[in-house]
Amino acid sequence: MNKQEIEISQFNINAPKVKNIIGQKYGRLTVIEQHGFTELNKYGTRYAIWYCRCDCGNYVERTTDVLKRGKSSCGCIQKEALKNMSKRNTTHGMTHTRLYRIYKGMIGRCYYPCMDRYNAYGGRGITVCDKWKNDRTKFFEWALQNGYKENLTIERKDVNGNYEPSNCTWITMAEQYKNKQSNAKTPLPEPYKEVSHDRSN
Ligand SMILES: [Zn+2]
Repeated sequence: MNKQEIEISQFNINAPKVKNIIGQKYGRLTVIEQHGFTELNKYGTRYAIWYCRCDCGNYVERTTDVLKRGKSSCGCIQKEALKNMSKRNTTHGMTHTRLYRIYKGMIGRCYYPCMDRYNAYGGRGITVCDKWKNDRTKFFEWALQNGYKENLTIERKDVNGNYEPSNCTWITMAEQYKNKQSNAKTPLPEPYKEVSHDRSN
């Protein structure tokens, strides 16, 4: 074997040094044929280049080491991952939109006399804790860590208590309606107690 022949045999796909992986599948890539080798790197190694077909229909060239790293694709896996990530962010954004509405409602009921139900809240001393009042993201954080779901609404455990982490929970509208019914039977707080006019005296 002359020098050239040795070189050819060394980099020949059929030579023992290069394992034939044609037909093998790595992630989404199926190896079709060999397309030569990479340039020698600084450690004196070169890799076989493989022409591959991706499950998505694209054709790409990949070196052996990259193929064996796993999760191989033409790049479509990464693209899908990015797409899913932005979809998740959209959902997250919508969650924040609804939570923001709940937040605005809560602040409105407690601090804006022009709001419909101010009388039943701010009007009788119900407040929002400083942490939430000063930073709505603190409220969002608490909500997401404490069982918030799109179909739930915020409820104060003690109807005479304030909007604060220890007094708030997330319940369904149906549960809230039931609570309202039973609260109606319990005595109202001081400013709302009806003055009894006993005329029999
Ligand atoms: Zn692909």
